[in-house]
Amino acid sequence: MSGINLIGLLPSEMEDLAVDVGASRYRGRQLATWIYRKGVLDLDAMSDLPKDFRARLAERAEIGLPEVERVTPSLDGSRKLVFRLHDGGRISAVLMPDDDRLTLCLSTQVGCGFECAFCLTGTMGLDRNLDAAEIVAQLLIANSLSPEQRVTHMVFMGMGEPLANYANLVKAIRIFTDARLGLGYSPRRITVSTVGLVPAMDRLGREDLKVNLAISLHGATDEVRGRLMPINRSFDLAALMGAVKRYPLAPRQRVFFEYVLLEGVNDSEEDARRLVKLLRGVRAKVNLIPFNDWQSSTFRRPPLPRILAFQKVVMIGGLTTTVRWSKGEDIGAACGQLREPIPA
Ligand code: SF4
Repeated sequence: MSGINLIGLLPSEMEDLAVDVGASRYRGRQLATWIYRKGVLDLDAMSDLPKDFRARLAERAEIGLPEVERVTPSLDGSRKLVFRLHDGGRISAVLMPDDDRLTLCLSTQVGCGFECAFCLTGTMGLDRNLDAAEIVAQLLIANSLSPEQRVTHMVFMGMGEPLANYANLVKAIRIFTDARLGLGYSPRRITVSTVGLVPAMDRLGREDLKVNLAISLHGATDEVRGRLMPINRSFDLAALMGAVKRYPLAPRQRVFFEYVLLEGVNDSEEDARRLVKLLRGVRAKVNLIPFNDWQSSTFRRPPLPRILAFQKVVMIGGLTTTVRWSKGEDIGAACGQLREPIPA
């Protein structure tokens, strides 16, 4: 990329850019409409923009998209998209259909530095943050690949810790939710998942973005969670639950808690009772994720009766609970399975 990447600019920044190249703000609004509302990613195809404006724009800016290296369909209907970035880095996004929903799981970093013990992505280490353009491009490309159905929901649960790339995440969300000239998604259809970066959770709550929050919990005591997630040493369960309780929720909004079930580690009925106790007083929904095996992992998925017994205890404890059988397990696209080689 030599100039400014138009993808990843807020509509207001496109208006500023139009003025910078000697045109009116109106031209900037037209540009945003073409890119975000119509999904047109070629300046030459923007037929109602004057030629001289397009030419002046092209001297300063371009539409830079990552290359789609692979699209791998799964037997369950989901599709894993692997993108090659301008510096050779690779990230993935996963499209998951479910009745009339089409959910896109997005990445925010190349690799991840948080080293959760059960997660394949965590074995890669962190290469770098994605910029806002690289986050937004995942959605624009996904929508262009499925013209029959636009993405309806987004979850930031792909590669990386979203809140560790805070500014780019928030900018991308503003573009996704801008109802006037952006993509116009309801923030209630967007879920940001975090390992529990407490200061960033508080900051997100103050942004007035109104997106859903999902917590990667995976343990209901500091002892178990600390073994699985090194972040628990910086922000323990008391600090995490404090931030959860401070996060502003709309009347029917709930916080999602992700809990990967690992045989013999966190899957006993006693663990389930501790989970119920931990979440008392929180408007919570629990997603139980039976572990997705990957080679050389020392963890195992619990047998089905144990998974159902765990769920039953949590439900009797008064919490809405679903068992999320991951999508795309056969193509390495399930939760905690996303890994692409980092360039040397
Ligand atoms: S679970 Fe999320 S935060 Fe933890 S290592 Fe994997 S990608 Fe990183």
